[in-house]
Amino acid sequence: MENVVIVGSGPAGYTAAIYTARAGLSPLVIEGMQPGGQLTTTNDIENFPGFPEGIGGSILMAQMRAQAERFGARFQFGEVVKTDFSQRPFRLDLGETTIESNTVIIATGATARYLGLESEQKFIGRGVSACATCDGAFYRDVPVVVVGGGDTACEEAIFLTRFASRVTLIHRRDELRASKIMAERVVNHDKIEIAWDSVVEEVLGDDSGVTGVRIRNVKTGEISEIACAGYFAAIGHKPNTDAFAGQLEMAENGYLITDGVKTRHEGIYAAGDVCDSIYRQAVTAAGTGCAAALEAERFLHEHHGQ
Ligand code: FAD
Ligand code: NAP
Repeated sequence: MENVVIVGSGPAGYTAAIYTARAGLSPLVIEGMQPGGQLTTTNDIENFPGFPEGIGGSILMAQMRAQAERFGARFQFGEVVKTDFSQRPFRLDLGETTIESNTVIIATGATARYLGLESEQKFIGRGVSACATCDGAFYRDVPVVVVGGGDTACEEAIFLTRFASRVTLIHRRDELRASKIMAERVVNHDKIEIAWDSVVEEVLGDDSGVTGVRIRNVKTGEISEIACAGYFAAIGHKPNTDAFAGQLEMAENGYLITDGVKTRHEGIYAAGDVCDSIYRQAVTAAGTGCAAALEAERFLHEHHGQ
């Protein structure tokens, strides 16, 4: 029987582990298939407070893990595939084992959606990104493309105009899905061009990284190439909530619905990208991880005298 099980090992999960471990609760962290979370896929984090020269994503996450371990957090590789939160203790099924716990902190994050092209996967981290806030500053005075037509794509495109020499938004239809105000900003921006009715067929590149994209106009069939050093996929995110289907409230887009970090079950909390479709940053994930840990501590104190 566990006191605190933390599902996920990104900034939200590790921060929750630091706090609950330091409170003497000996949390168990289920690390999932991506120990360290999304940041382990990027080299330079320049906006996490405390690192004026920036820090590598994998290093930052290894440091967070070590900090939690120092206070007694325990770690288990594996993935929660099913849960039963209908009664306490809560049950988490990892396939070969089942864990019971008095409290659960869900920090399973979200996964950026990519088009799924082989060439796109090949250049992830070398020109292909899904986060302009994170990686935009690496593309100063060079052309970039953004794929998508929703609010995220428009926001990413506008943000990238601060750095890039030119931004081309590639959208598969002749009308943006984005809200009117965002769409107007993009359409009227003198640094943004739009490739309408177009789909990316291949991301082009060499040893140095991305050099361009080959696109096809779905109406005319015309094939063309756009030179670029950066390629930003902005076609939405998928929260990692499959294991909680039927157990927790979810929005239509799959994100967990919470009141702050509280779910509808007392003793189960959520933190980070899994319940945040708006900010999606490491520091906001860490912040809510802290809040979830404090709630779990309070709950254990009240109900189990810990
Ligand atoms: P995640 O980091 O997504 O971690 C989720 C964790 O849950 C993983 O450990 C995974 O293994 C685990 N998991 C998932 N499902 C299960 C399951 N069923 N069972 C057990 N474990 C599970 N943000 C910034 O602030 N600055 C940046 O510079 C920055 N750069 C980025 C660059 C890239 C390429 C990407 C993709 C994102 C970047 N971000 C950046 C965003 C940032 O990574 C996320 O906001 C942050 O990682 C979210 O943290 P999280 O703890 O909520 O979840
Ligand atoms: P979204 O609204 O679902 O838009 C996704 C976009 O990607 C759509 O334009 C879609 O094209 C395109 N797309 C999806 N799959 C594709 C594929 N396989 N190939 C090519 N294009 C593809 O997602 P989002 O933009 O991430 O927004 C999610 C939610 O967050 C929305 O409710 C949005 O309003 C909100 N949001 C708000 C703000 C803001 O208010 N500032 C900022 C960001 C997000 P189609 O249009 O053809 O379907």
